[in-house]
Amino acid sequence: MSSKENIKDLGLTKQREVVLQVIRDKDTHLTANEVFDKAKQLLPGISFATVYNSLRYLKETGLIGEISFGNGASRFDALTSRHDHAICTNCGKLVDMEIELPAEIVKLATKFSKFKLESIELTLRGLCPECSE
Ligand SMILES: [Zn+2]
Ligand SMILES: [Zn+2]
Repeated sequence: MSSKENIKDLGLTKQREVVLQVIRDKDTHLTANEVFDKAKQLLPGISFATVYNSLRYLKETGLIGEISFGNGASRFDALTSRHDHAICTNCGKLVDMEIELPAEIVKLATKFSKFKLESIELTLRGLCPECSE
């Protein structure tokens, strides 16, 4: 994981702080519902609407990332720098891949699509180590 500011130094409201903490604590990519479940344990009484609004705020300020794969709920990501993901087709496990894509792939993709490149993401689908045993 890349360097992170201390949550306490960000000047966030308690609720936003808790939501950010939940996302950073987990080495996984939680959905809004999962974040809500964990946030409730840290701050009983927090509402789903507050969690949802906090997620929007944290995303807009660049403190978290949001990913969606077209189907299902989007997931929130503690890692905000460009990275790719591998998804297990059996258990749904989602892991970060901090790898540099070869310039050749980027060149081919832009040449083929004739798009002006803004971002490029790679999604690897397959069986995770536990499921492929
Ligand atoms: Zn798996
Ligand atoms: Zn990620």
